[in-house]
This record gives sequence, C-alpha cells and structure tokens, in this order.
Amino acid sequence: MPIQSINPATGVLLRSFTPLTEEALLQKIALAEITFASYTELPLAHRALCMRKLAHLLDHETADLAALITSEMGKPIVQARAEIAKCASVCRYYAEHAARILAPEPIDTQSSDASVRWDPLGIVLAVMPWNFPFWQVFRFLAPALMAGNVGLLKHASNVPQCALAIEALVRRAGFPRGAFQTLLIEASQVEMVLADARIAAVTVTGSESAGRAIAAQAGWLIKKSVLELGGSDPFIVMPSADLETAVAAAVQARCFNSGQSCIAAKRFLIADSIYADFEVRFVAAMEAMKVGDPTRDDTQIGPLATAAQLDELDAQVVAAVQAGARALTGGERMIGTGNYYEPTVITGVPRTSPVYRQELFGPVAMLFPVANIDQAITVANDTPFGLAASVWTRNRAQQRRFAAELQCGAVFFNVQAASDPRLPFGGIKHSGYGRELSAAGMREFLNAKTVVIVEPEPTP
Ligand code: NAP
Repeated sequence: MPIQSINPATGVLLRSFTPLTEEALLQKIALAEITFASYTELPLAHRALCMRKLAHLLDHETADLAALITSEMGKPIVQARAEIAKCASVCRYYAEHAARILAPEPIDTQSSDASVRWDPLGIVLAVMPWNFPFWQVFRFLAPALMAGNVGLLKHASNVPQCALAIEALVRRAGFPRGAFQTLLIEASQVEMVLADARIAAVTVTGSESAGRAIAAQAGWLIKKSVLELGGSDPFIVMPSADLETAVAAAVQARCFNSGQSCIAAKRFLIADSIYADFEVRFVAAMEAMKVGDPTRDDTQIGPLATAAQLDELDAQVVAAVQAGARALTGGERMIGTGNYYEPTVITGVPRTSPVYRQELFGPVAMLFPVANIDQAITVANDTPFGLAASVWTRNRAQQRRFAAELQCGAVFFNVQAASDPRLPFGGIKHSGYGRELSAAGMREFLNAKTVVIVEPEPTP
C-alpha cells in the first residue's frame, strides 16, 4: 500500500510514497551499522555543535516546518510553530547537558577504583505517532544522537513528509549520513527491522496495541524497549482551587492539539461543592472554542488527523450515550469537508461502559463529580492508564496525598500537565514503561557499565 500524506482539513492527497523494498531497507540498516562504528568516536563537543546547528535550523525554518505539520496532520498553526520551538529547546538542552549526564560516575567501594560509564547501545529503532510529528521524534533523537547512538525512524504512515523533513534537517546540521534515517515503511515491516540482529533497541510511542506487539517481539529477542503509550489523564479540581483559572486550564488541557495528546486531560473529576459551577463555566468555555481552518492564527481546534480517528471518536461518543451518558454540548461530527468534531462534554458515563476505560483522542471531555479526596483518588486510579495527572488544590496536605497515591508517571499541581526537556516523562500501567527526556530519558538507551580497577600489590 502506498504511504499517503492527506490534508485532514481538505481531504486532498498531498503526496504518495512507495514503501521501501526489503533490499532498500537492508541497505539503510547497513549504513546505520557502519555509521555507528565511527560515530561513537566523534567527540561529544562535535556532536553538541551539530545539535546546536539543528536547533538553529529549526528556529530559522519554523514557518515552513510548521506549515508542513499543519498541512499533514491538521495542527492549528500557532501550536505547530510552538512544536518546532520546543524541538529546538530539546536539542539545546541535550547539547548543553550531555557531558554531565554521560560523565563516568565514581563509586566509593573502599577497596577498588570503581565507576559507572555510560556507553551507547548502537542502532535504536523509533516507532513514532503522528500527533506531535516533530516533537515526538526530537525527544528521541536529541538524547540518542548526543549519547552516540544512531537512529532509524519508522514514523506514522500519515506524516511521511514530516519524517523526511526531519531526516534532511539532521543531515544538514552536520551529523554523519546514517546517524539518523527515516524508513518509509508500513507497520507490518517493523517486525523484520526489529528482528535484524544489528538493531539494539526500540522505542515506541503510540497506541497500546502497537506497544504490545512491538514489546512482545522485543522481549522475545531480548532487546531493550521503551513504551510511551496512551493515557486517560485525570484533571481534578478540589474546593480550594481558583475556579476561573482551573476552568481556563481545563479547556486548554482537553483541546490542545485538537484533543489528540497523550497527556491531554481526558477525565475531569470535580468536587461536589463546586461541580455545578464548574460544569456551567466549562461547557460555556468549550462552546466558545474556535474550530476551523488550522492555517489561521486564531483557530484553536483543527480537524482530527485522519478520517479513521474521527470515526473512532464518533463511535466512542455514540457508545457512551447508548450506555446512559449525556452530552451537555457537542456530540456530533461537523458537517462538511475535513475531519472536524464538535467540542464535546459528556457526563454520567457509567463505570460499566467500555468508554469509561478508553482513551478519547479528540476534543471530548468526560465529567465526574467526586464527594471527597478519597473518591477523587479512587476514580482517578480507576483506569488502565497511568501517564499524568493535573490536580487543582491549594491545600498542602491534599497535595501530599495526591502526589503519593495517584498511580501515574507525573502529578502537576495548579497547572496543566506538560512535557519539558528537564523533567522525566513517561507512564506506568498500560501507559507504558521507561522514561523520555532529562537524564533518565538519555540513559534508557545506554549501557551502565560497571568498571572496577584493583591496583595489584607491588611485587616485592
Ligand atoms: P498507533 O496507531 O499505535 O501508531 C503509532 C506508530 O506505531 C505508527 O508509526 C504506526 O505505524 C506504528 N504501528 C501501529 N501498529 C503497529 C504494529 N502492530 N507493529 C508495528 N508498528 C505499529 O498510534 P497513533 O494512533 O499513531 O497515535 C496515537 C496514540 O499514541 C495514542 O494512544 C496516544 O496516547 C499515544 N501517544 C503517546 C504518547 C506518550 O508519550 N505516552 C505521546 C503521543 C502519543 P502506521 O502509522 O504505519 O500504522
């Protein structure tokens, strides 16, 4: 099947690519192998220079790159520009901090000279999603290339132009040919790539089903894997919160990237005493969101990235309503061209319905009243996922309880959840394992090699 780039706002086919043949694929793996052998010898300072150049290119070409993102997956243009800026920031973060993160760590063992050194693993395969078509890739490639690994990218099949643009940028930044290559392949070809003995490890960002399939194979092959999968993050508002700020953040947290973010807030758990007030304000704010042409600066919600995403979201809302939920606003796909869905708020989703436990990847919020902090924690944890949580409370004792008892990879208080190059990012439960970003993310694909040197006694 051809790999197609289709504008989700217009339905127009932009470009079509033939997937790589097995022979072409093997050539790219061979080039990665040859490159790795010499790339590890490249001084860290040289890699940092290339990484800074990469950041510079991103800054200078933001307008074109953002337009590419918007045309290929429908992200509102202002957010697409912000995505490119964030990619530049992660390049600069690792250019600046790699030496510290990669420095050998001396360990005091009294009787010997012991240390841990951090060695690259080799070729890392990255299987990536379309929702942040640059950021997801950059948060893998910046630490991987700074650490001396080389990368092969299998990007989502609806963003091939972004995938090729990233490969070209890395090359123009001065990295050796073969340090980072895009593989225009179908999902079914990933198995063959991962099975190749030259591939050392794999990182997957995507759905549970993709993660499960790839991790199962990686486990069988005894190859390191990192999984960044879905989420159904709670957004919890307690009575001490500033309601106006919380409502504004709630709408952003649900609708950013047209609702297609792993760490979007998807379930809103609101304390009983403020529930009615929150509901009225939240519904009004959702209705005020400007949905439309993603190339316009004032658009807040664009089309969903693919027709399949739109069908899936629509079916989930229909199923929720059939199970007894009520749509307070929205609940329909929008009429006309493009994959548009109304900003939607649903309430009363029964715990027994499948939707209660599913991820809603679009501008659809589920509201739940909670009686107290115990119930808030119970409902928040009542999900297969465990990515992040956003909690709105000024009460210190409550903050300590939420921080300790929420089952997820990150808890943000009085602010919406977001990734940051300085902070570890990742989940637990079905949201995956391993971390990206910060020192922790860089070390996922490094060998923590213990080195012990005992000086022999001088011969008498
Ligand atoms: P997806 O369908 O799982 O696709 C992700 C990637 O995996 C694509 O490159 C896809 O290729 C590939 N893929 C799918 N099934 C595969 C299989 N069986 N074997 C090998 N490769 C396979 O996910 P998506 O719809 O693009 O992305 C949305 C999901 O990603 C959501 O669940 C979201 O929460 C999650 N996500 C998580 C994070 C995080 O950091 N935790 C960040 C962003 C997104 P094709 O496109 O060719 O099918």
